[in-house]
Amino acid sequence: QKWSQCGLSAAVLEVITRLGYEKPTSIQAQAIPAIMSGRDVIGVAKTGSGKTVAFLLPMFRHIKDQRPHEASEGPIGIVMTPTRELAVQIHRECKPFLKALGLRAVCAYGGSPIKDQIADLKRGAEIIVCTPGRMIDLLGANAGRVTNLRRATYLVLDEADRMFDMGFEPQVMKIVNNVRPQRQTILFSATFPKQMEALARKILQHRPVEITV
Ligand code: AMP
Repeated sequence: QKWSQCGLSAAVLEVITRLGYEKPTSIQAQAIPAIMSGRDVIGVAKTGSGKTVAFLLPMFRHIKDQRPHEASEGPIGIVMTPTRELAVQIHRECKPFLKALGLRAVCAYGGSPIKDQIADLKRGAEIIVCTPGRMIDLLGANAGRVTNLRRATYLVLDEADRMFDMGFEPQVMKIVNNVRPQRQTILFSATFPKQMEALARKILQHRPVEITV
């Protein structure tokens, strides 16, 4: 499969060329068209599969399809991931695309000063890459004036198995349940055991596309 068959914009294709990503990986070739079609997707894929780009590129298009974003509004794309390292890595992978597309992403994780993250959010961002606990803190900060989920319509749970193993289920569910039901939800997990299936049923729409690589 070729990048030109993935329905991406010229601006995104240009960045992909610049990054030297010659062709889509297996998860990208399968997940990108499925997500672009508007379906909810479960991707069973490990780190190194190229899963990050697989959920980021459709998110950029999802956001570009919305009316322009005001700094005072909450993010449209929410990417939840279990650790600071993963959040930083995802944010880093966004960067070349953000510049080319004129989008902004905030990276927010626990164990670092919340006030810097609050300042970032106040400047406005279409995307937040976060750990679940810190997202809850930010939603509650300053009586809810820092950020909100009102515009959120593209939700990613990255490394969902690890997120639940680490005990983030209450925080994840609280966030999920406060995002409008008319949303697109993408769940990536390295493994897909029975209890994950049950959780996925609560989080994703009826009949999500399942992709295993
Ligand atoms: P991930 O599985 O998302 O953690 O990605 C693993 C690494 O593969 C990252 O460093 C990406 O920059 C890189 N990558 C993602 N997609 C491609 C691609 N299509 N071709 C080459 N490298 C890629």
